[in-house]
Amino acid sequence: MYLHSAFKKESEELEQMKRVERGKDMDSLLYDLLTTHSHINFGEDAVRKIITDYLGAKTKFETDSKGNLYINVLKKNKTPSKVMFSSHLDTVDSRNKGVERIILKTEDDWIRCAIVKEEKYLTVGKEKVNKFQLESLARKRDMDFDTYTVRDGKVYGSDEPLFGNWVYTGIDAKIKSEPKLRANILGADDKVGCYIMCRMIEQGIPGMYVFHHGEESSCQGSKYIAREYKEFAKNFNYCIAFDRAGYNDIITKQSGSVCCSNEFATALAEQMNRRLPPQEKMKPSPHGAYTDSASYTEIIPECTNISVGYKSQHTDDETFDHEWLTVHLLPALFQVDWESLPVSRDPSVRTHGYLGYGGYYGNYGYSAEDEEYGSGFTNKGGIWRKTSATTASMTRTVKRGAKNIRSCFDRYKHVMKNVDTFDPETGFDDTETEEMKINRILLTFLSEEMSETEKAELVLRAYEVNPDDVEEFNSYHRSWGL
Ligand SMILES: [Zn+2]
Repeated sequence: MYLHSAFKKESEELEQMKRVERGKDMDSLLYDLLTTHSHINFGEDAVRKIITDYLGAKTKFETDSKGNLYINVLKKNKTPSKVMFSSHLDTVDSRNKGVERIILKTEDDWIRCAIVKEEKYLTVGKEKVNKFQLESLARKRDMDFDTYTVRDGKVYGSDEPLFGNWVYTGIDAKIKSEPKLRANILGADDKVGCYIMCRMIEQGIPGMYVFHHGEESSCQGSKYIAREYKEFAKNFNYCIAFDRAGYNDIITKQSGSVCCSNEFATALAEQMNRRLPPQEKMKPSPHGAYTDSASYTEIIPECTNISVGYKSQHTDDETFDHEWLTVHLLPALFQVDWESLPVSRDPSVRTHGYLGYGGYYGNYGYSAEDEEYGSGFTNKGGIWRKTSATTASMTRTVKRGAKNIRSCFDRYKHVMKNVDTFDPETGFDDTETEEMKINRILLTFLSEEMSETEKAELVLRAYEVNPDDVEEFNSYHRSWGL
């Protein structure tokens, strides 16, 4: 009930927002990037094409076998820059492939994404009735049940839905549906980063611009470059990622390991702040989680990640401050003299990660086991696969001790957010195998941090639901917000 009423409120809230018009309310490039799905499962080709088409034939680009896209802007004297700029092509949105993504804006120019979903409701006669109205209609007929369901246009009630009788209430009703807006992951993480890089390329700002493949799936693209093209990566003094939430951070540590010097971060903040409003200034922050620039910390001296104004990334509430991006951040980035920034950190000196583990940072700090954990959760068509190995691996990873514990938890939370937990009234998907079902229940225990009693209650609820009624129950419960 709780979730459903939240959804209703959200739907109204979204209906009130203005639909963003491409090229009018928002730059066409940014609009195209945000409306194009690019979860790693669906591929990143469409986004790469948007970028290369936008920059036009005069811009040379390269791709590698992983799908990283490289665009090199030389300095005026035709020599290469020492700066690598970084963003990622993929997003975490693995659902609703092919469904139109509607871009909305609030009055304050915060951007959201919604999709249209059918919402079910019940009518009695010509009246739309909610759960309480239906109960009161039943009481008028001297009936009062714990549960009601609709079958073949008739409302039945029961106190024991599994084994008890269903009693016809004498009320006839129809389940109907209407299209409603539903919030969806926007993917400003990291389409905003991609957009910033395109605009910088357009401005002719020298640098090697790397649009990374698969950041959200354990930084596959950047790890590949760090491993296979180490000599290439050695050309750079700086790796600047545009992939940080909020307004103010220049990240100096990622997952607890130092990624750039304070001198560098302070100097960059000072340069950017010349163009930023007094209430929102950049400053060094040690609280970075992980992004592609972390893959290069043993090769490139100054690696950072900069706030680009998005928030609630990886959730359906994701949003970003469009005005901040266009009015403040882009002009501030355009006037930074990147190569003048100090180079102080020695990338060969390894620093300690979380809890003082003698941190070999390696491939970003994940062992093969972590890798399995990170990429093991793949959501194909809404079904989570390979979960048992990954759950076990995660447990082992956490048990193994302090090493990168923070990044493991970040990743764990991120994955959990995307898992459909088991709900007896929704049941399982037809395509789920027994093993998958067991794993989904296990994940539900984990992600909802259930106590033993809560687990027992879940079993009891599952026991009380008649599987035959699940579908009807579903539509009924959805319409009634249970
Ligand atoms: Zn990101």
